[in-house]
Amino acid sequence: MDDKKIPRADFAIIGGSGTLSSNFPNKFADVKILAENLFYSTPYGKSPAMKIFDVDGRKVLTCKMHGWRSGVTRADSSRQIFWIFREAGVKKILSEGGVGTVNHLLNPRDLMIPDDYLDLSVRKDVQLDGKYLLIMRQALCHALRKNLLDAAQKYFDGRIFERGIYAVTDGRHFESPAEISMMKGHADIVGQSLAPEVYLAREIGACYANLSFIVNYGEGIFNWSHEVMKNIFFDDAELLGKILIDVIRNAELEKKVCQCAELRKETLLKEVYD
Ligand SMILES: [Zn+2]
Repeated sequence: MDDKKIPRADFAIIGGSGTLSSNFPNKFADVKILAENLFYSTPYGKSPAMKIFDVDGRKVLTCKMHGWRSGVTRADSSRQIFWIFREAGVKKILSEGGVGTVNHLLNPRDLMIPDDYLDLSVRKDVQLDGKYLLIMRQALCHALRKNLLDAAQKYFDGRIFERGIYAVTDGRHFESPAEISMMKGHADIVGQSLAPEVYLAREIGACYANLSFIVNYGEGIFNWSHEVMKNIFFDDAELLGKILIDVIRNAELEKKVCQCAELRKETLLKEVYD
């Protein structure tokens, strides 16, 4: 269906490879699905299928796999979903996704809640309207990260790393051994989705945090098998969903707990963007 009116929502969850196999969040008994297969016209093209659901009276917009689909660039996919989030008044955004290791101490099935990033992608300049100067200090909201940590500790008895640096590459291919070697000492994990999402979240004045689960070793660090990666995708979808729903339930909406909204300033380059 083509719905012109975008519903209000305080939260958004950008689904990644972790929840892809689970038709998130339909299997959770305490979640009420309000509408599915919502498509919206945006200035960047027709949106991916969006879903809205309710957790204890809190409304959440979600989409699958970062909005990526064939025939649409990843930059446009990101712009479409963040344009919708802005229209909906979204204040807090969570994303999840499988990542590879750069730090050789990490293993498949570890969880990480990154606190910083290194953007090695060439998807630069992905913005909505460029009205703001974006300050990327504390780009990953510390309050939302603490919510993720608390929730992960409730449901997961494996290793949880509460900080780490996420290197962003373009994909869709994995990295070469030389690329992983270059990143060593600069990043802990590597994946393809944290940027431009982190910039777009700041542009719309929303908090953003990410839950990364490790599915493979970086090339050249240790041999990994496709089978292990596949099993993690299917086995852990429910766990990741539980963690995300718990954060929706417990994140602070009333009191000010972070500075995220103040880290965008009116641009001084007004003539360029008006
Ligand atoms: Zn925040």
